[in-house]
Amino acid sequence: MGTLIDRPLVVVTNREPYVDERTRTGIRHVQKAGGVVSALDPLLRDVGGDWVAWASGSADRHTAPGGVRPVPLDNPRYRLHRIYLTAEEVLGYYTRYANQGLWPLSHLLIERARFSRRAFTFYRNVNLKFARRVARESQASSLVFSHDYQLALVPSQIRQLRPDLAIAHFWHIPWPVFTVLRLCPQYQEILRGLLGADVLGFQTDEDVDAFLTSVERSFRHVAVDYTQGQIQWQGRVIHVKSFPISVDIADIESVVQTARITRWSRAVRHRLLKPGQQLGLSVDRADYTKGIIPRLEALREFFHRYPDQRGQVVFLQVVVPTRSEVSAYRSLFRHVEQESRRINEEFGTTTWTPVLTVRRSIDRYRLMGLYRAADFGLVSSLFDGMNLVAKEFVSAQVDRRGVLILSETAGAAQELDQALSVNPWDPEGFAATLNLALSLSFDERKERLQAMQQHLHEHTLYDWATDILTVLDSQAKAYVVES
Ligand code: UDP
Repeated sequence: MGTLIDRPLVVVTNREPYVDERTRTGIRHVQKAGGVVSALDPLLRDVGGDWVAWASGSADRHTAPGGVRPVPLDNPRYRLHRIYLTAEEVLGYYTRYANQGLWPLSHLLIERARFSRRAFTFYRNVNLKFARRVARESQASSLVFSHDYQLALVPSQIRQLRPDLAIAHFWHIPWPVFTVLRLCPQYQEILRGLLGADVLGFQTDEDVDAFLTSVERSFRHVAVDYTQGQIQWQGRVIHVKSFPISVDIADIESVVQTARITRWSRAVRHRLLKPGQQLGLSVDRADYTKGIIPRLEALREFFHRYPDQRGQVVFLQVVVPTRSEVSAYRSLFRHVEQESRRINEEFGTTTWTPVLTVRRSIDRYRLMGLYRAADFGLVSSLFDGMNLVAKEFVSAQVDRRGVLILSETAGAAQELDQALSVNPWDPEGFAATLNLALSLSFDERKERLQAMQQHLHEHTLYDWATDILTVLDSQAKAYVVES
């Protein structure tokens, strides 16, 4: 991968890119798939540097003497610095404050949000552990790139320890409007924490606007320039900009066209469909923000309203267990089962099961093959920062048969404008859109997919990472010239 960045990088994330797990036969090295890791791991291997993250694997201490694990193990290109946390710290910082507080609030689901000062103390102290490690490991010329809602205080904590460092922070989830943000008892601390960065990245322009407004409404002596996306804060200029995260479409295209995945994709259709039937697909973590229950309600509505479509569609939902330490997540998992069973009992026949559910994660290759196999993909998040599944679905559609039905409240909807858009809160409208999707001609499907695929070729995951770091790099250089 070519890159414009020639300085060492320090990446800071909650989850680590490599988790080492103890198994009966030895240690298994698991590379975590996902947008951030796929973009930044190759970049770090290229320019060198450090990655600071929470050590979550059972063999993590074993492979990281002194808390540092070389990546890759046999031919080190960069260092993974592992932050060890106690069970109590994980509960306070991650499960409580981040996942039960900031996560639902940022997705505007305020009734689910729970905050406590005790949890915030853990959050602050754990953030400080990350910041201290960054401060210790960074060289003078390093660019620091920290991430997301688990680490909102890290930018200002680093700045206090190392004012010489250039810092970018990317917020992966939606930024809530100020009236919602202020319900968080610590919202000013969260904002101050983020304002330690030089560059703040969000998924959409709407998030940027909401953030700038939040800053302007929260602090008296602050100058906010909405046109330039700049904030004057404590003698510094902070650049606030949208950088929509993306996928590696070229890689997905080549994966789905390998002989193995081509066969698998055909076998899926052969096994699940009878002639004339269409395959619908959804893939989500079992998270209440993904709108899985409203989607099943819309599906029920669809079969009610359009009896001719009964027997014509098989809907496959992949629901991946997640955050099972939080009770709302466990109960959602059960609820999905109940709703799916209800549809199958109401409409299914001896020869047709309308809803099939896979309740585990699927390896990346097969997942891409499933996307390729589908006639339509359903993404119905209630709110979503981006939704990479939507972009992956479009990328994998090399046969150009699939229609994407996409929630208008997912960040991806800003770019994937050839998807059929739905309001996840409107079951009747959703059902009508589903009916429309099934009737779209092959030519129309192809045209829509081509336009979206072109967009993804022009805005890749690597563009996302290099765009942010290029802005940060030029900021850092500007400071050097001035001082
Ligand atoms: N994913 C996966 N295995 C699965 C299901 C999903 O690796 O069985 C991946 C999927 O390919 C996507 C990510 O999980 O890259 C989900 O990202 P998204 O932005 O859609 O939602 P998030 O889970 O981050 O809220």
